[in-house]
Amino acid sequence: MEFRAWFQCINGCSGQYELTEIIYRCPDCGDLLEVQHDMDLLKKRSGDEWKRIFMDRYRTNDWPYGSSVWGKKELVCPNVDNDNVVSTFEGGTNLFWAERLGKQWGLEDLWIKQCGMAHTGSFKDLGMTVLVSMVKQMIANGKNIRAVACASTGDTSAALAAYCAVAGIPAIVFLPKNKVSLTQLIQPITHGILTLSLDTDFDGCMKLVQKLCAENDIYLANSMNSLRIEGQKTISFELVQQSNWEVPDFVVIPGGNLGNVSAVGKGFQMLYDLGIISKLPRLVCAQAERAAPLYRSYKKGFKNFKPIRAKKTLASAIQIGDPVSVKKAMRTLKAFDGIVEKATESELANAAGRANRTGLLCCPHTAVALAVTEKLARRGVFKPTDRIVVISTANGLKFTDFLTKYHMNKLKGIESEFPFSAVELPADYDRVRDTILENIGA
Ligand SMILES: *Cc1c(COP(=O)(O)O)cnc(C)c1O
Ligand SMILES: [Zn+2]
Repeated sequence: MEFRAWFQCINGCSGQYELTEIIYRCPDCGDLLEVQHDMDLLKKRSGDEWKRIFMDRYRTNDWPYGSSVWGKKELVCPNVDNDNVVSTFEGGTNLFWAERLGKQWGLEDLWIKQCGMAHTGSFKDLGMTVLVSMVKQMIANGKNIRAVACASTGDTSAALAAYCAVAGIPAIVFLPKNKVSLTQLIQPITHGILTLSLDTDFDGCMKLVQKLCAENDIYLANSMNSLRIEGQKTISFELVQQSNWEVPDFVVIPGGNLGNVSAVGKGFQMLYDLGIISKLPRLVCAQAERAAPLYRSYKKGFKNFKPIRAKKTLASAIQIGDPVSVKKAMRTLKAFDGIVEKATESELANAAGRANRTGLLCCPHTAVALAVTEKLARRGVFKPTDRIVVISTANGLKFTDFLTKYHMNKLKGIESEFPFSAVELPADYDRVRDTILENIGA
């Protein structure tokens, strides 16, 4: 069966554009594009048939379907030949029952979708596999693409660098100087990808990279390129599949540039339209208080969205004041009875500390989502038996500086509620034994 997808304007302008065209914005109104699938073709298979196909492919060795993104290829990006897929076996990340953490907030059914258990340590791999595969397809078709570039708060650049290195495609990444973790900075460097560290913030990098791409046959890999959204929407497919096709009551997503909250919504909507699920969850977008332009607008019924200058936050990957996908996100949140809530630096740090005590290793962005979860539980928006899925966006190992300083109570202006540090002792049996017995309360 032949499936079809194309770009079209989010405002409903009439043009349709091939996914192999180099186009990011609507030529008529200048707004973002989105990928539209031929739903009539997809509906020729029943919801049950799709479920069976997805279950059969899950983590199989059959290229490229063992990747949980490409295992849903027909719903994601049917326009790439399997030979041109650039994949590192994305997805299939653990859906973790946060039993002990949930109990502390009176929640019996709290789950964490561990999207950071990924090739480059964040959910950005899910979208980047689609974008870089499409670039490989375009190059195979004879398109003139000299390189691929992105601005990033650290995770998009790591993913772009790795996927381009896998495919042998040149790439350039723009990073705001001193605003990403050391691991994130070193990731593109290890792959030999041209890494620019610029004296500005993310929004400043974004402006430069857009101009560079528009004028130099360089392909733009930021999430205004809606190919990435198609890959990221498999987060919803996966977490439903992992719950035996049951839909949670709420999904909590940390939001910066706001592509991912749109992607998660798009995933659920598609499953619903294809008869794979029969209800929709409510979506919660969690922002860091120091970079919360969507929260401000939400408080006014999503009227008068105004970009802000984002202030420095521990949640550096969502330190964005002028989110590219704000319109898509507002549309999504309205359709999903959405909530936007924010967390302060102290709230996010201590949410991470609390979660770490229950066996997690929280990145600061996941911590924003957890802090917001705690708030909504205390406020009674989340009921004790509601099923809540928190999207963990990155692996805590990328943010060891944050974790070290938090647990050693060295984060400026923050009182750690869960301080802990290593005990240094001489290699003397009696001292070691006495210290241990004191600690385990003997
Ligand atoms: C990119 C990113 C986000 C935010 O996703 P948006 O689509 O920009 O809203 C959140 N957390 C981490 C770790 C990220 O890398
Ligand atoms: Zn338009």
